[in-house]
Amino acid sequence: MNVFSKISEYDHEQVVFCQSSKIGLKAIIAIHNTILGPALGGTRMWPYLSEKDALTDVLRLSRAMTYKAALADLPLGGGKAVIIGDPNKDKNKDLFRAYSHFINTLAGRFITAEDVGTNVSDMECILNESSFVVGTDKSHGGSGNPSPFTAMGVFYGIRACLNYMFHNADFKGKTFVILGVGSVGSSLAKFIQEAGGNIIACDIDQNKVTKLALEIPLEIVQPKDIFKVKCDVFCPCAMGGIINDDTIKLLNCKIIAGAANNQLQEIDHAKKLKKKNICYAPDYVINAGGLINVYFELEKYNEKKSKEKIRSIYDTVTHVLKVADEMNITTAQAADFLAEHKIEEHRHSNKIFYNKFNPHRPRQGEKKDF
Ligand code: NAD
Repeated sequence: MNVFSKISEYDHEQVVFCQSSKIGLKAIIAIHNTILGPALGGTRMWPYLSEKDALTDVLRLSRAMTYKAALADLPLGGGKAVIIGDPNKDKNKDLFRAYSHFINTLAGRFITAEDVGTNVSDMECILNESSFVVGTDKSHGGSGNPSPFTAMGVFYGIRACLNYMFHNADFKGKTFVILGVGSVGSSLAKFIQEAGGNIIACDIDQNKVTKLALEIPLEIVQPKDIFKVKCDVFCPCAMGGIINDDTIKLLNCKIIAGAANNQLQEIDHAKKLKKKNICYAPDYVINAGGLINVYFELEKYNEKKSKEKIRSIYDTVTHVLKVADEMNITTAQAADFLAEHKIEEHRHSNKIFYNKFNPHRPRQGEKKDF
């Protein structure tokens, strides 16, 4: 693998390989772009089959964070980290302690939060050693689990798509397919159910979907059959690459709008969706609710202000769909165009970025001073 050519493909600023053979830590921190502010992005823990897979994932995810922050209008750059390991077997406090020291070496250029395979208690472990972490427990000035806020943003993004496609934002009488009912998917299902939508869901973990069916009315379908289910909105809320040549052939929906990162296996799959007249809400635009929520931790956390900002995802998604129509390009191209324009504008504005991050905020066991 030619690492430098891989890193320059998306023009990453810095990639840090972190290892401790004593502890069994293998992690990669990727800082894509810090023009708008410090790179904020989750730490994913996943048993990657190869180091190449881990590097490819962290590079794609960190780039999407740059675009996500830009379109969410946040003074943040894009970064992400991956820890190679099985979150069910390989997690321990020493691992997160060693990892935190690497975050500290970046002196605030990278701030982390939870992602797939990590949770609030892992962020609390990092907070013991480092100030450069958000998504921590409310008792330490944090905002807790970002997933319900991500789900809320997806809900407003779906509403924008419904309005755009049907000239009516009503959820009542419409059918929503949710692929993956983990933290975000289950929370999204509750928002949709409250708004009157019919839900069909699947998960490779049967326990999760049967548990959710005890809480809200929904129809369960096997994962292998989910793509061909006729619905108004298909909501991918599991892993990436779910929109590809095989699945596009099967899809029987009007809208694709969900939380999963990197939903399109290739950027050109957006063109195939456009051809099929399926409205695609670009993933990093619609799933920005969690990022918006943790951003507010950098000041004094205020849930009301955060929710107000998350509601603006409705306007952002509407704007992206309009620009795509006006320019006759895909919605994915429109989102990239708008994000790149914003970053370029900032690069040339000579504005000095004001880092709101407070490195002196209290860590575990310390007295709160705000
Ligand atoms: P999670 O691990 O809690 O949930 C994912 C669920 O998908 C699990 O229940 C898993 O069993 C299921 N799943 C995995 N592969 C599947 C498949 N092939 N078919 C059906 N089900 C499958 O993760 P999450 O936090 O809910 O995140 C979901 C997605 O949203 C991820 O892509 C994540 O990167 C993205 N995302 C999450 C947040 C957040 O705040 N948690 C924010 C932005 C983006």
